[in-house]
Amino acid sequence: MSEIILCDRCSSLLSSKNTYRLIITLQQTAGVLEVNQSDLKKDLIEEIEKTIEELNACDPKELEDDIHISFSAVLCKRCRDKLVERLKEASNRQIDE
Ligand SMILES: [Zn+2]
Repeated sequence: MSEIILCDRCSSLLSSKNTYRLIITLQQTAGVLEVNQSDLKKDLIEEIEKTIEELNACDPKELEDDIHISFSAVLCKRCRDKLVERLKEASNRQIDE
């Protein structure tokens, strides 16, 4: 007997032919690093030590989630199509702005 799998969004029964796995990864983008004259005058070792101290004070799990977090879900074809439609709309909106 095969395992019963339900859509994580609408709870409809999924078959091997209409199952879509959604994997979302959100990653923090690193901004463009600009170094100017005043940065070069700073004590870099002191700056690095300060950054390490700040990182040590943070919750490691929270810090990791801030930088990189992944979600996974299974969807039926209908929910998959709706999601794709919404993503395309969001993507078009971003281009228009
Ligand atoms: Zn669904």
